[in-house]
Amino acid sequence: MDFNKKQFNWYWNQQVEYGAFLGWDKKLNITHGFSTRHGGVSEGCYKSMNLGFASGDKEELIIENFKRFSQALKIDWKNLVLSDQIHETEIRVVSEQDIGSGIIRLKKYKGIDGLITNVPGIPLATFHADCTSLFYIDAVKRVAGVAHAGWRGAFAGMAGKMAHRMKTVYGSKAENIQVGIGPGIGKCCFLIREDVYNQIKVFPQYVTRLSRVNDEQWRLSLESVHENFLKLEGIPTGNIFKSGICTCCEKERLFSHRRMGEERGNHAAVIQLNS
Ligand SMILES: [Zn+2]
Repeated sequence: MDFNKKQFNWYWNQQVEYGAFLGWDKKLNITHGFSTRHGGVSEGCYKSMNLGFASGDKEELIIENFKRFSQALKIDWKNLVLSDQIHETEIRVVSEQDIGSGIIRLKKYKGIDGLITNVPGIPLATFHADCTSLFYIDAVKRVAGVAHAGWRGAFAGMAGKMAHRMKTVYGSKAENIQVGIGPGIGKCCFLIREDVYNQIKVFPQYVTRLSRVNDEQWRLSLESVHENFLKLEGIPTGNIFKSGICTCCEKERLFSHRRMGEERGNHAAVIQLNS
């Protein structure tokens, strides 16, 4: 990535490290971030900032991690609203009644890979360990969103569906929607085999986004698939920001499913509108 065009950076606050798009928080009056492994209390393969309740880690440690991560971002951990990810593209429109869902009270929804809201003070969170994190903000209508999309969600058009939902629910205009393609597995590390290739090749427009590595493997850029769906929704190129961060390459900083398998923690991608 061109250093001069760097759009994403790593920050430390209160001994917690997280990533964020440069200048977004101040300019757009939001708070957002992508957690790293640094700053939590979990041990072993979860060391140390594991935010995934389904990971097999101890619940009290995960809660403590949420408290520390939230403190670093300056959000209220008790207000968090957590996704319920199943690699599909359902999006929940979050309101006050959802506050604390998945963190201090049970979720009243299932199968949610994307969250949007226009209510200030509600931090929305999705979870990641290679699947792309997608951040959305419409600073005019004051709408924020976050989504989880691995290859299934990517090809099902999650990136575009989030923008579409912001338009239909809140009247957002494409030219006012900014999207951050956050950390996720990069083309450098995402090798797919025939099983995935066979499911992708039914979308001929995307086969061009695959490069053949050998007889059995192809290299896939999820970022370019997301970008394509965003453009179909009319999001201007200049409104699409890229972290350029590969979760698999960032060995010391990030968990990666491809690199670590099931023995690992999860990162959270969080966004909140400020009042
Ligand atoms: Zn990589």
